[in-house]
Amino acid sequence: MDLASYIRDIEDFPKAGVIFKDITPLLSDPKALNKACDVLCGFAGHMHVDKVVGVDSRGFIFAPLLASRLGAGFVPVRKSGKLPHTTISESYELEYGSEILEIHTDAIKKGEKVLVHDDVLATGGTANAVCKLIEKLGGEVVQCNFLIELTFLNGAEKLNGYQIEALLQY
Ligand code: 5GP
Repeated sequence: MDLASYIRDIEDFPKAGVIFKDITPLLSDPKALNKACDVLCGFAGHMHVDKVVGVDSRGFIFAPLLASRLGAGFVPVRKSGKLPHTTISESYELEYGSEILEIHTDAIKKGEKVLVHDDVLATGGTANAVCKLIEKLGGEVVQCNFLIELTFLNGAEKLNGYQIEALLQY
């Protein structure tokens, strides 16, 4: 099954000049959804994982499915002001402006093995900030796991030292 054929390019979204990888055709097809889950889980099948961290918001689609299959818990990292309990935060630079991500302070215990999942690795700023949050809480990032890596944006360089897996690369 060619999962790449379920990813749709949307030109000029969310702004002019950007070609956005739309994953919704893959999500809406039962066989493609299941296959994507199988491959993403397979990347981590050999390792012990205590928590799967999903990134707001498209990381929330697969991360709980992976957590359930891997026998791990799911932890959301959210944009500023969305989590109800005590949080720590990490800010990072975007092309224009900056973004703040937050995690609950009790979401990860010291020494826990953590898998980070997001739909797309672009410049790597988001995933790098997520790894910092996990490490601030004493967790160990065992893998950064993506549906899509946009290799031409060199996000892997920002995640130097972390194991990176992606189902599809462009
Ligand atoms: P980065 O911080 O690596 O530059 O950007 C990654 C974040 O932006 C991810 O949370 C991802 O959801 C979103 N993102 C960036 N480009 C795309 C894209 O083409 N398609 C999708 N679905 N998400 C994208």
